[in-house]
Amino acid sequence: MGRTALSLDANTFAFFTRNPRGGKAKEIDPQDAADFRSFAEEHGFAVLVAHAPYTLNAAAKDDRVAEFARETFASDLERMECTPHQLYNFHPGSHVGQGADVGIEKIAAVLNAVLDAGQTTTVLLETMAGKGTEIGRTFEELAAIIERVDLDDHVGVCLDSCHVWDGGYNIVDDLDGVLEQFDRVIGIGRLRAVHLNDSKNPCGAHKDRHEKIGEGCIGFEALSAMTRHPALRSLPFILETPNELDGYADEIARLREAWS
Ligand code: FE
Ligand code: FE
Ligand code: ZN
Repeated sequence: MGRTALSLDANTFAFFTRNPRGGKAKEIDPQDAADFRSFAEEHGFAVLVAHAPYTLNAAAKDDRVAEFARETFASDLERMECTPHQLYNFHPGSHVGQGADVGIEKIAAVLNAVLDAGQTTTVLLETMAGKGTEIGRTFEELAAIIERVDLDDHVGVCLDSCHVWDGGYNIVDDLDGVLEQFDRVIGIGRLRAVHLNDSKNPCGAHKDRHEKIGEGCIGFEALSAMTRHPALRSLPFILETPNELDGYADEIARLREAWS
């Protein structure tokens, strides 16, 4: 993964801790992890942003699904320590009809069960588009979860540009205003990573369909402005656009060109 990222002129990347549809994780080869750590250091890699499986629903109604979320979360956090001091991003969850308040309590309970004072990983709640019964469309919902976590030093937020746009935050006309709102509700210090995606849909659509950078409703100008914004520019930016490797290389090149 490190070599592939470098070949694209990237200095960070995202990876799934296991099959994104869930299931058992592959054993981590300690030598491979050690090789990666020295490779990342040699090439000046920034912090990485791991992604939990999509099937992990910490707000689940069904006990077995909730149990899977807790076990997977705990096991992933253990595995993350093979590459210390990285970020682990997860979708807060869907309340599936129980109501957002119940969902928020359940998500906080899972975090309180799995976080360990000695861990080096920071867990990130991802801002969501508000599709179905997703929790985390509003900054207020994310703040309510974080408020209920005891070891909140280990918790941050990953801002997904497609999701906040679809969620109704206008990052095209008023990025400053959106970030001010984030700061007021959550605290800008919690913002630790950005998922940089264009969107197939207009602001407030609650759809969550990613588009290539510059080919969607957000557009190249606004996305490129995010990479240069003083509150964001030092964060890791992760592309989750519908591309193959050459498409990512091209997006990175265009964003870097506009940045310098
Ligand atoms: Fe995600
Ligand atoms: Fe994302
Ligand atoms: Zn998405």
